[in-house]
Amino acid sequence: MLGNERMAMERLKEELISLTHRAGAQKTGFAAAHPVREESVDRFNSWLSEGKHGGMAYMKNYPDIRQNPRLLLNGINPEEPCTLMVCAFSYYHTERQTPDAARIAMYAHGSDYHEVLRQRLQPVLAHLDSLGIKGRICIDSAPLRERYWAVEAGIGFIGRNGQLIVDGVGSYVFLATVIFNAHVSPDEPCRRSCLGCRRCLTACPGQAIGADGDIDARRCVSYLTIEHRGDLPDTLAMPDGTSRPIAGILGNRVYGCDECQRVCPHNRRPLPTRIAEFHLRPSLRTLSHADILNMTQPTFSTLFRHSPVKRTRLAGLIRNARPTPTALDPII
Ligand code: SF4
Ligand code: SF4
Repeated sequence: MLGNERMAMERLKEELISLTHRAGAQKTGFAAAHPVREESVDRFNSWLSEGKHGGMAYMKNYPDIRQNPRLLLNGINPEEPCTLMVCAFSYYHTERQTPDAARIAMYAHGSDYHEVLRQRLQPVLAHLDSLGIKGRICIDSAPLRERYWAVEAGIGFIGRNGQLIVDGVGSYVFLATVIFNAHVSPDEPCRRSCLGCRRCLTACPGQAIGADGDIDARRCVSYLTIEHRGDLPDTLAMPDGTSRPIAGILGNRVYGCDECQRVCPHNRRPLPTRIAEFHLRPSLRTLSHADILNMTQPTFSTLFRHSPVKRTRLAGLIRNARPTPTALDPII
């Protein structure tokens, strides 16, 4: 590569990092787009074939794109360079729901991250466009192995609990990826692993975390309260052959679960979010199970406007609030 080209590439990298920082990101890294490594594809396929994705049939869609992110940029030719820029945005904040409130996972305390981050990353797209570079923002909206690419881009490593852990930030992060057809020097992939303390395995209410770190969605409270369609089962079959009532597994959670992050030593001092929209909405502070069970559609629409919770719709939230709640440890 010629000296001028190298300088332009480094300048582009600095400009993009600066724009993502301005957008509120705590960490940004770059990886050259290449096919996903075979062992990672095999592991993902085994997870699917064991049915651990539960009812998320969409996880089986577009395997070709999932394995080759270049396909996300329509019309890119095989010789063109292609880069993935992965950014981590903390959503951690210190406001808490009251202990007896209907518990909502922290990522859903504020506004929908898809909308907020897409909006905040528009200047990145505009800058790429001004240089004649084609870019696409992916925030949980494309068949992209986001955590895999976050590791490749050197911004963190995946813990036993399946979460991406970012050094000095923690795991309460949203990931956003911008894929574009230009070359930028890639960062060193992160080859660290978590402490392996197994606290997340012990704390998981549904025993959904396998010894190998694979999550069985069918016993995961996040999956059951957000993605699962239809009624909740009365009991869940545990790996040891016993069964446990769903009420005891949900505790007082009605949307998502933070348990495997709450206990993780990497979250002892999480870096707080720089984005006000991710803070706890005051209306959710004391929201009770009774409030949800008696909620009307207009109230639901007002309360959860631009919130991730709207994904369950009112019927789903009521379904989640029906099992008798039990008190949980507060999130520190
Ligand atoms: S989100 Fe909750 S239920 Fe799911 S793996 Fe983590 S601790 Fe277990
Ligand atoms: S709780 Fe322990 S085993 Fe689980 S992800 Fe964190 S460091 Fe790893």
